[in-house]
Amino acid sequence: MRMRKLPWAEEYIRQADIVIKEQSKYKGTWKQKLSCTKLHVEIGCGKGDYLLRMSEKDTESGWIGIEKDTNVMAIAARKYDRQPQPSQNIAFLLGDAQALQEWFEVGEIDVLHLNFSDPWPKKRAHKKRLSHASFIAMYRQVLSENGEIQMKTDNSSLFEFSLLQFQEGGWYLHDISVDYRRISHDEDAVTEYEQRFMDLQQPIYRAVWKKFPYINTDKKKR
Ligand code: SAM
Repeated sequence: MRMRKLPWAEEYIRQADIVIKEQSKYKGTWKQKLSCTKLHVEIGCGKGDYLLRMSEKDTESGWIGIEKDTNVMAIAARKYDRQPQPSQNIAFLLGDAQALQEWFEVGEIDVLHLNFSDPWPKKRAHKKRLSHASFIAMYRQVLSENGEIQMKTDNSSLFEFSLLQFQEGGWYLHDISVDYRRISHDEDAVTEYEQRFMDLQQPIYRAVWKKFPYINTDKKKR
């Protein structure tokens, strides 16, 4: 559901340093910018809860949140500004993740997070899913050799679709759970949407994919 337009959102973003205005400015130098050796990017970061919590938990890494909705991004930026001691290892990018390759160099990202991505249930809209083949082909370019994608969702159809898309794209399924929060995972913050589904006692699905260490062409020919 779309949020109603917030009259202060655009102006807030204009003055918020945490929202990088020229998204391509740091292409290839994000790790220097955020003083880190490991770079995490959440696509569709919403109001930023996951990013803000993770940047405090893991101060050695850099954390970038991408969000295409101006209102939602403004709320994330305001949450950041209101922290008593805002972390320095974080940045927000306003825009559509379709432009990922304009903003990040080949192999620059270590971990991509897809948290509770929009399910787009109608078949004709499946191409907008962040785990559609066209997106995951882009992810392969911007991820480092040992890079990985971590996905969490409440939606079993989206999860099933994603498993097939990654399988067909030649990714290695490294970890999978169909009830991720049944045991505590203190190392991994709960997102805003995740909390909603946990409150409803719904299972959280999670998978982690890595790039194949090698491409077995013989197997593909069979
Ligand atoms: N990750 C957050 C969480 O778990 O609480 C927010 C989940 S919300 C359902 C999905 C968010 O992804 C929305 O805010 C939406 O605007 C954003 N989004 C969807 N497609 C996107 C795209 N192509 N590029 C950037 N953001 C996108």
